[in-house]
Amino acid sequence: MNNHSGQKLAGKIAVVTGGSSGIGLATAKRFVEEGAHVVITGRREKELKEAAAFIKTNVTTVVGDVSRLEDLDRLYAVVKEKHGHIDILFANAGAGTIAPLATATEAHFDQTFDVNVKGVFFTVQKALPLFKDGGSIILTSSVSNVLGLPGFSAYAASKAAVRNFARAWTMELKDRRIRVNSMSPGPIDTPALETTTGLTAEQARQAAAQFATQIPMGRRGEPEEIATAVAFLASDESSYITGIDLAVDGGMAQV
Ligand code: NAD
Repeated sequence: MNNHSGQKLAGKIAVVTGGSSGIGLATAKRFVEEGAHVVITGRREKELKEAAAFIKTNVTTVVGDVSRLEDLDRLYAVVKEKHGHIDILFANAGAGTIAPLATATEAHFDQTFDVNVKGVFFTVQKALPLFKDGGSIILTSSVSNVLGLPGFSAYAASKAAVRNFARAWTMELKDRRIRVNSMSPGPIDTPALETTTGLTAEQARQAAAQFATQIPMGRRGEPEEIATAVAFLASDESSYITGIDLAVDGGMAQV
């Protein structure tokens, strides 16, 4: 899946949040393969270092939590010092545990909105001074933003907020030639299903099998399939595309 020719992001500076695993890591790697320099951020230093070793070259790591404004300030201070500007921002870090309405706690609700809504909002706001010559911002929403998935209401609402950030920011940033799109993954084969849903490995396997029955393509997606879509939105190949939501979901939300 990594047989690419040509470099559509040659010389670009890209920031990827949640870059230490799953979709963020696969996308950061793809950005570098396409010629970009990436700065990845995530909460755990050890995982970030492992991610950087996997990406191999043209990668900088900054430990931080996107829901903490001082961490975002530190992230962008490093970007400014090292590169001076940003061309591409992939605001991808997200959190979400399955929590039915009847039993969800305030802590669950707050954590979901702190990372997915507040985190994305300020990840983008604080990056703006570093966009000097147009650019592309991609926000990770989710197929859940248009589906009524039981147990996902707070998560789905937070991802609908992300989708709507892209709409409003498309208008707010058009005069700076910054395109803003969201991207909605369906169920993707990343550690998230186990690590953020609180499911055991067996429960996660069963949940994945259940999801698969609802996906026209009959399987979970691979992080690299998301990376391909995000690299397209990041590059000039999508120069006339802004404000959209690109579903990469095996057809799950489309039928
Ligand atoms: P993952 O668990 O593999 O990766 C999530 C990344 O986000 C990790 O690097 C983690 O450290 C980081 N992260 C989480 N909270 C953070 C915070 N507060 N600050 C900084 N970094 C933080 O998960 P993934 O599946 O790759 O998820 C990436 C994005 O895709 C998330 O926004 C998720 O909601 C979204 N998504 C995933 C799926 C799926 O099926 N995997 C489906 C739809 C949407």
